Amino acid sequence: MNTQILPIEDPGKDESYVRRAAEILRAGGLVIIPTETVYGLAANALDGSAVRRIYEAKGRPSDNPLIVHVSNMEMIPPLVEDFPDGARRLAEAYWPGPLTIIVRKSGRIPPETSGGLDTVAIRMPSHPVARAIIETAGIPLAAPSANLSGKPSPTNARRCIEDMMGRVDAIVDSGSCQVGVESTVITLAEGKPRLLRPGGITLEQLEAVLGQVEVDPAVLHKLSAGAKASSPGMKYKHYAPKAHVILVEGSLQQFAEYVKTHQQGKTAALCFDGEEAFLSVRAFSYGKKEDAATQAARLFDKLRELDDAGEETVYARCPDKEGVGLAVYNRLIRAAGFEVIKL
Ligand code: AMP
Ligand code: MG
Repeated sequence: MNTQILPIEDPGKDESYVRRAAEILRAGGLVIIPTETVYGLAANALDGSAVRRIYEAKGRPSDNPLIVHVSNMEMIPPLVEDFPDGARRLAEAYWPGPLTIIVRKSGRIPPETSGGLDTVAIRMPSHPVARAIIETAGIPLAAPSANLSGKPSPTNARRCIEDMMGRVDAIVDSGSCQVGVESTVITLAEGKPRLLRPGGITLEQLEAVLGQVEVDPAVLHKLSAGAKASSPGMKYKHYAPKAHVILVEGSLQQFAEYVKTHQQGKTAALCFDGEEAFLSVRAFSYGKKEDAATQAARLFDKLRELDDAGEETVYARCPDKEGVGLAVYNRLIRAAGFEVIKL
């Protein structure tokens, strides 16, 4: 397949490319689009055969449902059985933005999009290019992250090209994503609201609107063998670089000592800005220690850089779990296959 690259800096100025992307999507094609979280691999969410091509392009298991992206509230009623009051209040507070809300689906959502579930995940992104493409196409877009299944999500077009050239009809290039980790996912389809995946909208922000929100155990811990995943994505290996990543909890001094005495093969450290000089191995910094937003924005690209550099063992500094830090920790502990060393 010949993949077109569509550079869109400003959806107004680059309107012809916005129209091209929208036409491909309306015709049942695949287009990689930027969002404020990560790049997404989009297709018409209402067209089961278009959505099937997403799974093929990614190599993603087809029981792992996709997020449906809309650009305005009028697009929602046909997609859902009902949009409960809590969902409405969350949407008012945090849409457009990095929050996905799961509710019961309508018959318009094909089983390919919902992974065979009777619920649907909906999000209204804030990225101006994503919004312009959805609005111009006039259809909701199903879009998982635009990486090959199992790899860290792409946060710039270069990484999409690396994974997806020849597998999709077009890739929109709009530079780097601002948030850098996938959206927060909350389900309102059951009794109590439950956080399934932390992201750019924090647990504290959700609770400010809804009152108490349960945190699914799989957010912080490995699912025990045989346990049923509330979100099918939880059961798959995720965000994993090729390198063997180990999360190390402790002070910088303890970390530096541990790394020095436990080198295995080509060994590197994933650390915070300014810590490189204290470490005896090659160091990749993924943000400021006190600033979870910069860590989120840089983490996935750093994981890919570790693989580019051929690192074999990677010791990672542990982020704080407050605010957006919970999302950073959630991704990093998956990259580490839940291997944590407490010093
Ligand atoms: P991605 O599209 O790669 O960001 O992944 C979307 C995430 O949302 C996956 O972890 C899915 O399992 C989860 N998800 C999407 N739709 C649903 C749903 N209806 N119920 C539960 N989880 C969902
Ligand atoms: Mg993904």
